[in-house]
Amino acid sequence: MELFRLGISEALDLLDKGEISSRDILDSLYSRIEAVDDRVRAFISLTRDRAYDRMEDLKGSEKRGLLSGIPLAIKDNLCIKGIETTCASKILKGFIPPYESSVTERLLQNGYILLGKTNLDEFAMGSSTENSGYFVTHNPWDLDRVPGGSSGGSAAAVAADECLGALGSDTGGSIRQPAAFCGVVGFKPTYGRVSRYGLVAFASSLDQIGPITKNVKDSALLLNVISGHDPRDSTSVPVEVPDFTAGLGREIRGLKVGVPKEYFIEGLDPEVEQGIKTAIGVLERLGAEIVEVSLPHTGYAVAAYYILATSEASSNLARFDGVKYGFRADGKDLIDMYMETRAQGFGPEVKRRIMLGTYALSAGYYDAYYKKAQQVRTLIKTDFEEAFKEVDVIVTPTSPTAAFKIGDKVSDPLQMYLSDIFTISVNLAGVPALSSPCGYTSEGLPVGLQVIGKHFDEETVLRVSYAYEQSTDWHKKRPGL
Ligand code: GLN
Repeated sequence: MELFRLGISEALDLLDKGEISSRDILDSLYSRIEAVDDRVRAFISLTRDRAYDRMEDLKGSEKRGLLSGIPLAIKDNLCIKGIETTCASKILKGFIPPYESSVTERLLQNGYILLGKTNLDEFAMGSSTENSGYFVTHNPWDLDRVPGGSSGGSAAAVAADECLGALGSDTGGSIRQPAAFCGVVGFKPTYGRVSRYGLVAFASSLDQIGPITKNVKDSALLLNVISGHDPRDSTSVPVEVPDFTAGLGREIRGLKVGVPKEYFIEGLDPEVEQGIKTAIGVLERLGAEIVEVSLPHTGYAVAAYYILATSEASSNLARFDGVKYGFRADGKDLIDMYMETRAQGFGPEVKRRIMLGTYALSAGYYDAYYKKAQQVRTLIKTDFEEAFKEVDVIVTPTSPTAAFKIGDKVSDPLQMYLSDIFTISVNLAGVPALSSPCGYTSEGLPVGLQVIGKHFDEETVLRVSYAYEQSTDWHKKRPGL
């Protein structure tokens, strides 16, 4: 059996029965990585020695967590104690966090094994992983195409069977869009569901960590482990964490599924549109009631997001000045050292965003840009609240197109920003949303279906996505690497 093909829950099953060992899984995954990662380039770093040590330690321990012996890949903007964390930026080269992020601490408590850290767009700014300060990750379905971004390394690693599952982060679509491009499942939980402590901040009011997995059940399993209030993140919410796997398998008959008319617009690829419409048909056959809804402020979301996210980024990234973290350039005095460090350390997209955000926050423009964008954000949130008075979930395409070619959009930031049009409103509103595969284009590229839920109603999102998955075969397809 090719163990690297397994998902998390299948592997747990076999481990439980004693049919395989976690060494078998590690061996299989590292040889898979050796066989394919020179083409996919999903990993920034591998932690092989540490992984085998950890596997040995786990053997001796009495306590069996929910993920005992399961190797996972972690996006390289999550701090892991003692392991270099780069955010795919030159400015963090050599930065070794002295502390562990809360999510990976929870994974550790539950017996996971770190395989390695995955590539991303520098500081999670981008939609293609082309903005990585190190190298581009390739889409396992077509190596000439992008895997999406910014969690492109995590999504590609899952799709290429280089890990059993992964964590990503999502500020404007960075879990869901790469999941869609790579034909896997990506879940951004409600803002506040998962602690952001130890996630290097991009836009703090939007960032959220979530799972990228081979199927919906694995997504629920990982969410069980990483969710919950954390006193170290004041925006994590003290609400009860249900068992997210409990509702899987419940039928969806009678649920109301909203389809927003503003999401079927010019620029939506006809093959993607067809895929989504067919998926909606499947939900209807499963007994869901399909209702047209309206999210009238959708057209303003991209503009509002790129003001708010860049404003927050300009403030968050001020700390990288050569003093405390990673890279430091020479300078004739302190100010010169700051300037040289930032000039050499940040890549072009990060600089662009720092400048945009600084401009939007400056005294003379604050009301015209930042304040206006905040007001629009409230309207977008209200759109969702109104729609959710009528329906239980909303379904949309995850992205207007399937994976595009490497190099196609990278020199045109506006085109790149527009590719986030269907994922961004969800972050502005703070609601949970999951992308799962719902078909393939004629070129064999995966298409993603986005299911959006009410605040803290991840359970219904998972229930609908699972019901859909179980009545289709898309999640069983694998790229022919
Ligand atoms: N693509 C979006 C951006 O460039 C979202 C990134 C993210 O979610 N981290 O900002």
